[in-house]
Amino acid sequence: MLNELHSNYVDGHFAVPKGAARIDVLNPSRNAVISGIPDSPVAVVDEAVAAATAAQKSWARLAPIERASLLRQVAARIRANTDEIARAISEEQGKILGLAKVEANFTADYIDYMAEWARRIEGEIIPSDRRNETIFLHRQPIGVVAGILPWNFPFFLIARKMAPALLIGNTIVIKPSEETPNNAAMFSRLLAETDMPRGVFNLVFGRGPSVGQALASHPGVGMVSFTGSVTTGSAIMAAAARNITKVNLELGGKAPAIVTADADLELAAGAIKDSRIINSGQVCNCAERVYVDRKVADAFIAKLTAKMKASRFGDPLKDETVDMGPLINAAASQKVKAMVDKAVADGAEVVTGGTPNSESDGFFFEPTVIAGARQDMEIMRKEIFGPVVPVAVFDDLDQAIDMANDCEYGLTSSIYTRDLGAAMKASRELKFGETYVNRENFEAMQGFHAGQRKSGIGGADGKHGIYEYTTTHTVYIET
Ligand code: NAD
Repeated sequence: MLNELHSNYVDGHFAVPKGAARIDVLNPSRNAVISGIPDSPVAVVDEAVAAATAAQKSWARLAPIERASLLRQVAARIRANTDEIARAISEEQGKILGLAKVEANFTADYIDYMAEWARRIEGEIIPSDRRNETIFLHRQPIGVVAGILPWNFPFFLIARKMAPALLIGNTIVIKPSEETPNNAAMFSRLLAETDMPRGVFNLVFGRGPSVGQALASHPGVGMVSFTGSVTTGSAIMAAAARNITKVNLELGGKAPAIVTADADLELAAGAIKDSRIINSGQVCNCAERVYVDRKVADAFIAKLTAKMKASRFGDPLKDETVDMGPLINAAASQKVKAMVDKAVADGAEVVTGGTPNSESDGFFFEPTVIAGARQDMEIMRKEIFGPVVPVAVFDDLDQAIDMANDCEYGLTSSIYTRDLGAAMKASRELKFGETYVNRENFEAMQGFHAGQRKSGIGGADGKHGIYEYTTTHTVYIET
């Protein structure tokens, strides 16, 4: 509904807190207000945590397969509404419609995948040092999980936190980003149409420093699962420290892509271009910096530049054939522009692009290639989060790996090579949570997505991701 004010979803009820101010939500393609959310007071967090706590005991007592069946109902509601969901994501976040549809469908698939784990959660049985005793390690739910979300894959990230948390027997309170609440409101409406018991899933709108902080520091929350920036991750960790609350942090990245002299340059240039254009470069695991062997640098940069130049941008709801939409907001566009300008001031060269598009009200940024980048430049060290590829050269693989590892982030990395030895060396020596060989993102739901260094603590997806939402209860039985 146009310009709708969305309601929180707490204990199975939709409501706007009395007297709450309104936070406007923009369409970044047009810089126009499309909806609003309540600037919820922190009292709403108390209500949501109380509801989640009350619901958790009986939720955990269900057989896992019963919880899985309720999760599958949510997946089915999503699958029946993917077009509407995709349009909402596209409108408020600027993602092209094709990718928004992938996000909606993948979300349903992800929930079904997590539901499959109902019959696969395993504990351990260990022989004791005492006669007539057996030691059991049970995987138990933690209790109430708080999920605090960013805006770049806003719909999927609800499921990435909700599905494993609920399958295990936890209940959850989700706080979506202020930038992208429309799809989250849709998620809660679809979930409310299922048989999910009230209080198991709650969703609270509001600002990070109020609602987000209140969740992270709440004594009733057993785990905070956060995806977002390093700065906020650090604030959440500090807030969680008050109650020794477990944190799971999926933070920023500065993914290096290494292109060796024997690489398929066409493949490398295409994959790296796709990775920077997808979601307008606003993906935590897209190639943020390139190291190319000096011997093939000119040929590679020429191919990459041609592909970036050919990438078209525009309002994804007006033209479904564009390759990318806008950046999320004006601040993001100004930040990306400032980083490009600083790189140029420090001696790098803009080969193509370099500026925000001035012909519309939206926050579009030209696909940009920067040559002559050096390791000490800000553009090679800080997350850009825009369609800008800085390229530096190297003379041998050891040097490339050292430069790739010389970074405060450690989320993902990639290497393009036809040499198995080089690929194996990179996979041994790159200090990142993930390495892609001859391709870029995305990660698989059965893998494990986890950052090293400032890119995070813990991880998501697959068996290891699901076990993040458990605590181990050891029971000694002497008979
Ligand atoms: P952000 O940190 O600004 O905000 C994320 C969420 O945190 C929002 O809901 C916000 O309201 C909330 N928040 C803000 N301040 C808070 C506080 N003091 N306490 C509690 N909550 C607070 O991040 P963003 O701009 O929405 O997202 C972009 C970032 O997310 C990028 O750095 C990107 O790399 C990262 N990201 C990482 C992954 C991953 O899997 N590692 C995935 C997607 C995005």
